[in-house]
Amino acid sequence: MTRRTKIVATIGPASDTPTGLQDLMRAGVDVVRLNLSHGTIDEHLLRLSTVRAAAEAVGKEVAVLADLPGPKIRSGRFPEGGAVLAVGEMVELRAGDEPSGSHCIYVQYETLLEDLMIGGHVMLGDGAISMSVQSVGDECAIVRVETGGTANGQPGVHLPSDKLRLTTPTDEDLVLAEEMATAGVEFIAVSFVRQAIDVQRVRDVVGSRAQLIAKIETSSSIANLDDIVKMSDAVMVARGDLGIDCPIEDVPHLQKKIIRHCVEVGTPVITATQMLESMITASAPTRAEVSDVANAVFDGTDAVMLSGETAIGRDPVAVVTTMGKIAERAESAASYRQWADRLGRVQLDGRHEPMEHGDRVTAALTHAASQAAIDSKASAILCCTNSGRTARAMARFRPDAAMIALSPEASMVRSLALTWGVIPMQVGTYESTDEMVWFAVETALRAGMVRHGDTVVVLAGAPAQRQTDLDRNLPKRSWVGRAASDVMRIVHVD
Ligand code: PEP
Repeated sequence: MTRRTKIVATIGPASDTPTGLQDLMRAGVDVVRLNLSHGTIDEHLLRLSTVRAAAEAVGKEVAVLADLPGPKIRSGRFPEGGAVLAVGEMVELRAGDEPSGSHCIYVQYETLLEDLMIGGHVMLGDGAISMSVQSVGDECAIVRVETGGTANGQPGVHLPSDKLRLTTPTDEDLVLAEEMATAGVEFIAVSFVRQAIDVQRVRDVVGSRAQLIAKIETSSSIANLDDIVKMSDAVMVARGDLGIDCPIEDVPHLQKKIIRHCVEVGTPVITATQMLESMITASAPTRAEVSDVANAVFDGTDAVMLSGETAIGRDPVAVVTTMGKIAERAESAASYRQWADRLGRVQLDGRHEPMEHGDRVTAALTHAASQAAIDSKASAILCCTNSGRTARAMARFRPDAAMIALSPEASMVRSLALTWGVIPMQVGTYESTDEMVWFAVETALRAGMVRHGDTVVVLAGAPAQRQTDLDRNLPKRSWVGRAASDVMRIVHVD
């Protein structure tokens, strides 16, 4: 069986050529990430069309994720060659964008002094330099350097997120979200989410044109996790900023908590940042990185993400190949059956909030299908899905059988490239449930995913009636208008 954990790769100068992208996709990339923090909108749109052309050339369903920058606070520029901030030094922090140095750091954030509290922590860059607030006056605050280093250029300044007045999404985020939704990306990731309303504000702009990914990278987003996940189509464990906003030793535990919650409710989850970081410059990963990728798979993540490794790294294809091998090996040792059993109990206990009728039908049917696939020794579970919901709910059980999702919606098909184990395929529409079931089996057969002699489980929604058919009292015809799966068939493929 091929790899089930999906790979998200950020593209950049090291990988954004037509051949570079085709090579990445052949090496195993399922979702391409455009990091909107770098570059202009025209550059992102050009990259998007290059990605689409590459996917077409390779013949693969590849989704595109546009990652919004969110609020970024920067320091005033440090001198050429950098400024040393030594441990124990007392340094002034002032609001403004004048040049910074080792005795005074300017921060481009007007209400800096109002938002700082004695004892709070301020970090520069990715957290390499950390400082604790000693006093706050009318003109400046005094901070003590706790972890020293050399500050270069204009590093980002990280202040405790719960105090920040900057809101997410920013006005710039909303403009970018509109542009990228119009351009047709499958996913938009919202940075520095603190509460569900932050995701809702992007939803108000993009509507159903793109699925929204909440980046969990602030302590407030951990506190509001349930509501944020409910509001989002997918989630990213953004460990870079999470490890700055929360104690770094909490990151592995938060990762497990977030992934577990997402799998239980059927929301795809990405584990991100520094997974194979050393491969930006080295030809092989560290043993610790290999263990990190494998552990994310054991945790149950849907996808693992590459950032600088594929955007600016020395050999993006080698990174993707390495990640694929680690994930596939880990899957062979992961205890997915135990997971599925536990999920069954969670459903029976009714631990999650009361579901809508359609969700209950989908939950019941996919639960039954996961057991039916084991009992009937099915080689595949075919999910005929309009909204993608059946396939995502099915994936929660991490079945051994191949999962093939068939949908007439091109964008929906591509978006399922993010969901664990799902092989998405675009198909036509059907006149009846029978037709849908047999067409699904035939499609899987033709694609070489099932063989004669196999048993397969098929989940399908009964096509809803068109209004004209209702008026004329004709039988059900159209696929459109019905999301919940309500039929399971076990088919022996002769
Ligand atoms: C992160 O912080 O881990 C992350 C993925 O976000 P960004 O790359 O935007 O910093």
